Amino acid sequence: MVRRRGTYQIAIRDKQLICLFCQHNEFQHREVYMERVTLDEDEKEQLTLQSFTCTSCGDIRMFQEKNRFDQTSQKHVSIIEYIEVIKE
Ligand SMILES: [Zn+2]
Repeated sequence: MVRRRGTYQIAIRDKQLICLFCQHNEFQHREVYMERVTLDEDEKEQLTLQSFTCTSCGDIRMFQEKNRFDQTSQKHVSIIEYIEVIKE
């Protein structure tokens, strides 16, 4: 499991992530692995999800990391952007 230390503001596809419950915009990150069992039980799909916990109310939202092609830099970048919040 990967965990980033600190607090982050998150942008997904250039859209700022806002907590649905308290409208807060700072989250703690960790990566979670899940196994999704398909109808054929021998077939399991491994899912990696980025989990964001609201630092204000504790609500958790999860997203699957994907890449998109960025026209400006001409390369594939993650749809999820992390902006660290520096606390004094
Ligand atoms: Zn919240």
